Amino acid sequence: MTFTNGIPPSDKEGKKLFVSPSFLEKILKASHSSPDKEICGLLIGKRESVIEIMPMQNKAAYPERFFEISAADLIKSHRRVRQRQLSIIGHYHSHPSGSCRPSPRDAALAHEGQYWIIAASNKIEGWYAGKNGTVEGIFHPCRLVVE
Ligand SMILES: [Zn+2]
Repeated sequence: MTFTNGIPPSDKEGKKLFVSPSFLEKILKASHSSPDKEICGLLIGKRESVIEIMPMQNKAAYPERFFEISAADLIKSHRRVRQRQLSIIGHYHSHPSGSCRPSPRDAALAHEGQYWIIAASNKIEGWYAGKNGTVEGIFHPCRLVVE
């Protein structure tokens, strides 16, 4: 199963992220169980493969519209991940609004080279932050290859 996020099948150059179905199920479940507030977490892995997802607390002042992971929580996670020779390759979060499209605020938080998974109601989409993105100037649609 692949979530193509609108990428035509002929586009072999497009970005891909390999992710297990159980991770996507967990993200969707968390998103469903929090219909009013954004849920968030880290994508842990190597290059373009998610090896683990790490749920994080949303510490934003307005969690119904934004997500924010505290610097202290991030530093702790970085340490844990590095010890296992993995890296934080991106984030996931939910949009109670029902749209998986990254917001201007998401763009302001995005670092080039990171993957983003956004869940909204029962949809899920992958994004890759890089130069000249088609959404907010930084996000490129990314295929989620589920295996
Ligand atoms: Zn967002």
